[in-house]
Amino acid sequence: MELTDEIKVQRTTKSKLPEVDFNKLGFGNYVSDHMLICNYAKGQWEAPRIIPFGEITVSPTTLAFHYGQSVFEGLKAFRLEDGRINLFRVQKHYERMLRSLDRMCMPGIPEEIFVDGLRRLIEVDKDWLPAQPGVSLYIRPLMFASEAKYGVKISDEYCFIMFTGPVGPYFSQPLRLKVETEYTRAAKGGTGSAKCAGNYGGAFYPTQKAKEAGYDQVLWTDARENKYIEESGMMNAMFVIDGILVTPPTSDSILAGVTRDSLLTLAADLGIPYEARPISVAEIENAFRHNTITEAFGAGTAAVVAPISTIHLNGIDHHLPAYNDNAIMFRLKNKMEAIRKGQEEDKHGWNFLF
Ligand code: PMP
Repeated sequence: MELTDEIKVQRTTKSKLPEVDFNKLGFGNYVSDHMLICNYAKGQWEAPRIIPFGEITVSPTTLAFHYGQSVFEGLKAFRLEDGRINLFRVQKHYERMLRSLDRMCMPGIPEEIFVDGLRRLIEVDKDWLPAQPGVSLYIRPLMFASEAKYGVKISDEYCFIMFTGPVGPYFSQPLRLKVETEYTRAAKGGTGSAKCAGNYGGAFYPTQKAKEAGYDQVLWTDARENKYIEESGMMNAMFVIDGILVTPPTSDSILAGVTRDSLLTLAADLGIPYEARPISVAEIENAFRHNTITEAFGAGTAAVVAPISTIHLNGIDHHLPAYNDNAIMFRLKNKMEAIRKGQEEDKHGWNFLF
């Protein structure tokens, strides 16, 4: 018997599904009826349970609040035309969660709980993922140090939760970005490559400043010299320069995006030349000067690609040319969407169907 068959499911007596307007979902506005919860203590994971989504009670001394051992993931499931559900690249997200946990001295979550537990959770809330075009199910696994003891220490107890919620298609105006040279997101040797809560808390202030100056997000640069591009807000940064798709290499200060990996793999499939290499701010500036930069975009689970219209650097707003459907970013996005919707062959084994 698989562990998932054993997961105890306590169903809600009052579904919130009737309250959902699937034509106006947006992102992060709705949470499905159930969540999976599992606690870790005395070196062991207890049996996971699926229960109605709801509040949890924690002590003010809970270690995660004080010392920040808190890690999360973000992935999506899709409904195929034949009615099956596709949990896209779940293995890759699971592996990244394990790396994030390791960096934060937190215990690994067993694969049966993450992958099989997620499958079971989605099955319980399957009506929250209709076949409606553009709708997907966003999944948020998280783990935090739950031991109630405020002395500084690595927690001995943890709580792992997964919840889901339907999200609509991502529409946004092309982004205006400011190259950030004062604040940094992540340093060499730091936690930038882990999906830990503190990275996001620390990014709010510079992002807020950029918004006040009229930009949507910041284009992060390296902490040492502010010379190389690192990430685009909460997405990986990609550019097309001289017809080549370029993106910074992953490192300990860059989150290894699953979308980034998918898009580079698809670029290779489509015969689009690409390079993962350091990209300096000076190179971007030079490319604007010579009109050799034709695309700039962020890559991430929420949007797949988020086009960039403007990049502010050294006091000047540089504008990208308008994008048409033949842009490399849209060709890659369309290909990826066709695979995850089951409309094209999944030759890299990215789909987990049930
Ligand atoms: N960088 C950061 C800092 C992020 O938070 C995300 C979103 N998870 C990404 C990049 C993109 O990663 P993915 O493609 O796996 O969503």
